[in-house]
Amino acid sequence: LFITLEGGDGVGKSTQARLLSDWFEQQGRTVVRTREPGGSELGVEIREIVLHHRGDISPRAEALLYAADRAHHIATVVRPALARGEVVLQDRYLDSSVAYQGSGRVLDAEQIRGISLWAAEDLLPDVTVLLDLDVAVARGRLDNANKRFDRLEAEAQDFHTRVRESFLALAAAEAERFLVVDAALPPEQLAADIQARIAPLL
Ligand code: C5P
Repeated sequence: LFITLEGGDGVGKSTQARLLSDWFEQQGRTVVRTREPGGSELGVEIREIVLHHRGDISPRAEALLYAADRAHHIATVVRPALARGEVVLQDRYLDSSVAYQGSGRVLDAEQIRGISLWAAEDLLPDVTVLLDLDVAVARGRLDNANKRFDRLEAEAQDFHTRVRESFLALAAAEAERFLVVDAALPPEQLAADIQARIAPLL
């Protein structure tokens, strides 16, 4: 079972990943919690570049760095875990690329999706949970979170608004794969809604 969590920065993906992972373990399932960028050893190095490189990174180069991270991660971490029958719970995947590198950076969304699918040899999640939240509210959560500042946080509000709208459009276009939840709700309630969507698949 391959589950991905998507949404803008500060929407609460990590909290939901933790709650969901605990729940899967209570069901007796082995869970691999992972993320992109940075879910493999090579990916950790790529993550450092894409998030903390000092100079500019041209949009196409950035898209290819994410794709390189994805190709290696899917081949060496995700597919082996799925083959062992484990649950893979992944923070961000190809929808993030379409939203950030496609709509955020204004590259062609179809091309970005194509590059991602090529990188991942067409692996799509069974369920993608989209945590949707007002951009200003998410920004406020990040400012309070005290995490390491990355290049993306410097982007203007309209960048993050495009990203949010892109995620919602992706969810509408693939309604069977997506579960869209209102990330302003209390975490426990969100967790319950997400579990209700996934339980029939176990
Ligand atoms: O969610 P996480 O903290 O791992 O994301 C790190 C940063 O990378 C965030 O600022 C996110 O917006 C950005 N990102 C991106 N394109 C992706 C994935 C993540 O710009 N495809």
